[in-house]
Amino acid sequence: MNWRARPVQPEHSFEHERFSAFVGGAWIEPDRTFKVQSPIASSIATEVADCGEAEARAALGAAVAAFAAWRDVSPFERSRILRAWNDLILQNKDRIARTISMEMGKPVAEARGEAVYAAAFVEWYAEEAKRIYGETFSSPLTHKRLYALRQPVGPTYAITPWNFPAAMATRKAAPALAAGCPVILKPAEQSPLTALLLARYWQEAGGPPGTLQVLPASDPIPVTKVMIDDPRIRKLTFTGSTEVGRMLYQQAAKTIKKVSLELGGHAPFLIFEDADVDAAVKEVMASKFRNAGQTCVCVNRIYVHRTIEDDFSRKLSAAVSKLQMGDPLSESTQIGPLVDKQGADKVRSHVEDALGKGAKALVGGKGRDGLFFEPTVLAHVRSGMRILEEETFGPVAPVIAFASDEEGLEMANDTPYGLAAYLWTRDLNRAHRISEKLEYGIVGVNDGAPSAAQAPFGGVKDSGLGREGGPWGLQEFLEIKYVSVSLTPEPYRS
Ligand code: NAP
Repeated sequence: MNWRARPVQPEHSFEHERFSAFVGGAWIEPDRTFKVQSPIASSIATEVADCGEAEARAALGAAVAAFAAWRDVSPFERSRILRAWNDLILQNKDRIARTISMEMGKPVAEARGEAVYAAAFVEWYAEEAKRIYGETFSSPLTHKRLYALRQPVGPTYAITPWNFPAAMATRKAAPALAAGCPVILKPAEQSPLTALLLARYWQEAGGPPGTLQVLPASDPIPVTKVMIDDPRIRKLTFTGSTEVGRMLYQQAAKTIKKVSLELGGHAPFLIFEDADVDAAVKEVMASKFRNAGQTCVCVNRIYVHRTIEDDFSRKLSAAVSKLQMGDPLSESTQIGPLVDKQGADKVRSHVEDALGKGAKALVGGKGRDGLFFEPTVLAHVRSGMRILEEETFGPVAPVIAFASDEEGLEMANDTPYGLAAYLWTRDLNRAHRISEKLEYGIVGVNDGAPSAAQAPFGGVKDSGLGREGGPWGLQEFLEIKYVSVSLTPEPYRS
């Protein structure tokens, strides 16, 4: 394990001492603030506006007022503003990356990649804004003309998690804004600064007041209650844990909101006996260890055919032991700290549970100073261990052997989650057959990184409802209106 010198550089600090909320096109300072604590070191922290019911009511009023105008702005003009937003995000990708690293610990090189990925959604939906099509269809009655329009669903409340502070915000806001829906965004308590930076660029791009608002909050409930209870919020879009998503789904039923839920995952990675083991190791490394394993589509369970298990485990362990763990603001760091103590405790408890029940750490297995956890490979993992049932959200790769395609598939599907799954094989028949039988919303075949702005991202079962990305992501913010026109009979026919 490469533990690079000391993880904390003395010059690390947040850009400002205090950050405002963005409501109705203005930067506002509620009476209260809360502390955003960097996972890099306990000495690094900043104060952020703490929004509650009053700020939520102000934002709701501004969003409703903005909707009346924004829905009628030409889609070409909405597209132009989105494109300017995209350009500003790309021009400022280093600043965004540093903010992400500071507030949630993602290695800066990876965070720069997130900024570019976040911009890709803005670029895609800048283009799609101009392509919101309706349909005409025929009637058995010759005097009728029938068509369907697509119209914006209305003011939208978006809640995002801390693990992708930029990409989760734009994956929701860009399609909503393209469709004509104002967005009120409540970012995660750990990572509100990136969302505020994105709002600043939206303002600079010419985004009208009230179209995008950001409400940081130490307690998500007062802000959420205002939004959920009010029938003028027509859409709830949530990314986060299954537990919270399930609760919000029930609450949104009161006002029959349109709901999208991007929830937790427990991704299996199946490596069949004909796989190119070196290539499979490379993809597992990319999928499992990015963001220190704190990604909803991260590999959680690695199922390897028993004939290649030893070879795979040896090669994986060798690659994992070379990972550079340390200061996330250093360009060479590959594994930063975990987001907070709660997250680090969960990773530690999963590893201890597995080791206590007979698993063996081939590499890693321990926590380090602060919130760091050693990248770990576990062998002899069996059912009954927590790591096979709950999201670990940490840099831990459990390896499990399987004996046949049927057994591998059964183990891969044995979970309430259904977000992403991966398989590695050279056999085309197997690739198609297994992909079709995996109960997941996303399948990567010989591909550990299938996410893309133009593709449908989302899960089945406990992993959620709806899709983000591509044309599917835009439809989530549109309603269909059917118009039937009855003409008077043609004079020459009467
Ligand atoms: P979380 O605890 O569910 O929090 C997510 C967001 O919900 C945060 O903004 C949080 O605010 C807010 N929240 C929490 N309790 C709430 C409540 N009672 N009412 C309203 N809002 C509430 O999840 P997390 O730990 O931040 O994120 C990790 C989870 O997200 C994992 O399960 C991961 O798999 C999932 N995820 C899914 C996807 C996907 O696309 N499917 C992508 C990324 C992450 P506070 O921060 O203030 O608590």
